Amino acid sequence: MLGEWTPETACSPPDLSAMPLWVDLMNVPGYLYSKKGLSFLSRTSGKFIKLHPNTEHCVRLDVAHVLVEVDLTKPLPTKINFKGRDGSDVVVSITYPWLPPRCLSCSKWGYVEKDCSAPKANVEAAKQANVVIEQAIVVANDSVVLEGF
Ligand SMILES: [Zn+2]
Repeated sequence: MLGEWTPETACSPPDLSAMPLWVDLMNVPGYLYSKKGLSFLSRTSGKFIKLHPNTEHCVRLDVAHVLVEVDLTKPLPTKINFKGRDGSDVVVSITYPWLPPRCLSCSKWGYVEKDCSAPKANVEAAKQANVVIEQAIVVANDSVVLEGF
């Protein structure tokens, strides 16, 4: 039976659905600046792996470096909003010093736009999906609840 072959299955990009990435957390309150607190915060991006030695030994307190197995199929959060211990609003910023190449045209990871093999018809649909993802980030950030700290 013919019809199984598609350009996508013929040269599918490497599986980048989950990969370990260094994540930087900024503006972490002092009471969360521990392995337990930082692993808890980093769970908004993915699965906590380990702290950077500089962070473990508190060399720098302005930014925490955490190795996280990031799920690239989901939108990456850039902010975590929550109520701090004293009831004030806390915003922890998340940055990703290195991310794999990403196609700006179809939003897939692992290659750039000039190597894109996605049919042009799909590109507009992907752009539409991007808008939805950005809205979802906002919703996800608002609903991050930190309890037990
Ligand atoms: Zn593409």
